[in-house]
Amino acid sequence: MLSNSLIELDRAHLIHPVASYRGHEKLGVRVLKSAKGATVTDMTGHQMIDGFAGLWCVNAGYGHESIVEAAAKQMRELPYATGYFSLGSEPAIRLASELADRAPGDLNHIYFTLGGSDAVDSTVRFIRYYYHSLGTPEKDQFISLEQGYHGSSTVGAGLTALPVFHAGFGLPFDWQHKIPSHYAYRNPAGTDPQAIIASSVAVLKAKIEEIGAEHVAAFYVEPIQGSGGVLVPPTGWLKAMHEVCKQYDVLLVADEVITGFGRTGPLFACSDDDVVPDFMTTAKGLTSGYVPMGAVFMSDKVYNTIADGAGAAAIGHGYTYSAHPVSAAVGLEVLRLYENGLLENGVKAGARLMAGLESLKDHPLVGDVRGRGMLAAIELVTDKQKKTPLPAAADPSRRIFDRAWDNGLVIRAFGNGVLGYAPPLCCTESDIDAIIERTRLTLDQTLNDPDVR
Ligand code: PMP
Repeated sequence: MLSNSLIELDRAHLIHPVASYRGHEKLGVRVLKSAKGATVTDMTGHQMIDGFAGLWCVNAGYGHESIVEAAAKQMRELPYATGYFSLGSEPAIRLASELADRAPGDLNHIYFTLGGSDAVDSTVRFIRYYYHSLGTPEKDQFISLEQGYHGSSTVGAGLTALPVFHAGFGLPFDWQHKIPSHYAYRNPAGTDPQAIIASSVAVLKAKIEEIGAEHVAAFYVEPIQGSGGVLVPPTGWLKAMHEVCKQYDVLLVADEVITGFGRTGPLFACSDDDVVPDFMTTAKGLTSGYVPMGAVFMSDKVYNTIADGAGAAAIGHGYTYSAHPVSAAVGLEVLRLYENGLLENGVKAGARLMAGLESLKDHPLVGDVRGRGMLAAIELVTDKQKKTPLPAAADPSRRIFDRAWDNGLVIRAFGNGVLGYAPPLCCTESDIDAIIERTRLTLDQTLNDPDVR
């Protein structure tokens, strides 16, 4: 009864992110009720392993009392402090300092946001101000990758290259340019890592030269493309792209909203390729999704240029909830957990996850397995030789998502027959084994579904 009335209330009043509103009304909401570790339970009592950590964010897993305590303590002591008027709070200052200590290179300056979209949005504003300060405001063109995702703000959705974020929204802006992704499984340059790197380097150079280097402000990249289908570039790819940026005096923004905070192993995925970008954007794992928060990491060079450029004038960028003390207190506790075993466990669990997914390669539907650490995907095809995608008309992703759910597994089923995995870093060996077993069961059921083959 209770759940029925919730479904009706949801249908009548709650707008869901990135959904077909009419499709959702027909389906009805599935209400999650509680969670512990890597297991979530819905209103009906059905339990599932959360193979996607919410939305790639609950890295620490559910039910950490110490995180709850940190939030409650901060709420009692000081639930809010603005950063305007040169005010601040202890947890925000401490978190900024701890993050700067752990960030690659000279990314020593932290601007806190509420999530990833406004972190990306903030970088665009900062970059414009940077070139304004340098006296080269004509450097105002931005480049990002096809299949890239950089948030859902108007500016970020334009940097994003997923058509559903553009159609009907008048996006992208004409100053937002795209180049092809490294997408190894379907790259015209082939699967050889060096060929993929050479091809990406060539297209980035060509795009910069086409626009004119004197007009190109920045290149945005996810170290591993997430929402585009977990596309993993070859080792050395990010470094090679960074070299091109340096050659043409273009800033590099590493969007680590998904990859940050242990998802690929280290705290930041840039370290996998030994790259120090000019900006890093993060969110999700920063607070493990317990409360909203994002963080922009800014290099010394950019910070000092902006600060000197403005002189005594205020730099007009700020949010009411920037550096929220409760979110910062949670961030500090989550960071402590990462460094007290979670990152280590994530590396072990990630190796088991990748080995388990590799073992699914013998399945007739599995065309590709890719990932790093606790961030992975399998790409389903009906013909492995021809790499034929599943027939879109049958809405296979929805069917696979539903079957996995019934089998006790939450995964991300992307529209193009790609299944995404980003489990909490706290997963035990048996959690990971269950993810693999339940995936295989789901794939077998899909194979027997005449509409999907
Ligand atoms: N950048 C990337 C790489 C992301 O994956 C996301 C969210 N999935 C965002 C930005 C936007 O973050 P948010 O949803 O917190 O606004």
